[in-house]
Amino acid sequence: MADSGKFSGSRILLLDREPKVKNDRTWCFWEDKPGYFEEIVHRRWSRLQFKNYNFKIDLDIAPYEYKMIRGIDFYRYCFGKMAALQITTQYGEIQTQGSNIFFNGDKLETSGALIFNSVCQLETTRGSINLLQHFKGWVIQTTEDVFDASKATLMDFSVSQQHGTTFVYTLPLSSDTALVEYTLFTEKLLPPEEYVASLKEYISNTLLITGYAIKEEEFGVIPMTNKKFEFNKDGMYHIGTAGGQTKASTGYTFRFIQKQSDEILRQLLQNNRQLHSSTAARFRFYDNTFLKILQRRVPAGNQVFETLFRKNKASQVFKFLDNETTVGEELKIISTLPTWPFLKAGLSQLMG
Ligand SMILES: Cc1cc2nc3c(=O)[nH]c(=O)nc-3n(C[C@H](O)[C@H](O)[C@H](O)COP(=O)(O)OP(=O)(O)OC[C@H]3O[C@@H](n4cnc5c(N)ncnc54)[C@H](O)[C@@H]3O)c2cc1C
Repeated sequence: MADSGKFSGSRILLLDREPKVKNDRTWCFWEDKPGYFEEIVHRRWSRLQFKNYNFKIDLDIAPYEYKMIRGIDFYRYCFGKMAALQITTQYGEIQTQGSNIFFNGDKLETSGALIFNSVCQLETTRGSINLLQHFKGWVIQTTEDVFDASKATLMDFSVSQQHGTTFVYTLPLSSDTALVEYTLFTEKLLPPEEYVASLKEYISNTLLITGYAIKEEEFGVIPMTNKKFEFNKDGMYHIGTAGGQTKASTGYTFRFIQKQSDEILRQLLQNNRQLHSSTAARFRFYDNTFLKILQRRVPAGNQVFETLFRKNKASQVFKFLDNETTVGEELKIISTLPTWPFLKAGLSQLMG
């Protein structure tokens, strides 16, 4: 909106709990061309690997690159751009009751305003699948040069799968620094000490690192659900995770948010105030089917991801996970997956 120069006359109120001054998350995503946030990409990799027990593969991701953006760089960059807009920012607690919005307990007068909401409230409905992607990551600095900074590990499933689908990814920032993140797709969070124990074990037993210091840490929870998110509900437009932009089967959200933002901007630039945004039904169906498999754990999630990357070109898998494949390309990928469990899971989603 700021770049377009068309909204300098609009008055914008931005409400949030607290200022964005912390490096509270790291975003990773793949792109096949320079993106809107190219200048703040912190690291990028064109070489990725995937691992499971007794299986290891270098992924052919061209023309994609795997990119990393640090939360703090993103916030600074965006607030810098937003200086071109007339924005009033206020910090406090938002609550909603239907179309009524309360800010620090006071009801807001919103008539005539376009309202965008990114406060995510997940209600569980009967029969819905509600997995959580939860993860703890450390940026570690090692005493010796142990990392190949040109190659990242997208997923390493060679860790205990006792809680459900579990993997670790390692994103080297230099020869002695890397983000190592322990990630699970399960129904419940673990006690905090379990993430720590698993990270320590992975670093010493798999990465074979003995001397290191923890420089930064992050913890996050991302909902993975087959619940249908309404874009236009209660007189407001729901965006980001609150608007269903988290890919149910993988938790990747960043690029979907950017695509939804582009879609909204295009409509605003046409002076449209009745906005639309939706995800193609077939991609929701694939996601919900995959999510059902992850919930049932038959076959186990690590085996399904292995099959995906073993039998398909990684660039095709990325395109598929971006909801950008053609039906023909999708059928080709689906044909590589175990037929019967996916058929059962797919039917359960169609009938549920
Ligand atoms: C630690 C972490 C790492 C992630 N890494 C990746 C990644 O690598 N790749 C990827 O694709 N996705 C990732 N995600 C998922 C997703 O991209 C992020 O969650 C992203 O920030 C979602 O954007 P959003 O605008 O929907 O929500 P948020 O960025 O969470 O913004 C919601 C805003 O609402 C405010 N808020 C919430 N409740 C209230 C309230 N009651 N009152 C006032 N303000 C409130 C919050 O302060 C926040 O500013 C990650 C998520 C987390 C948590």
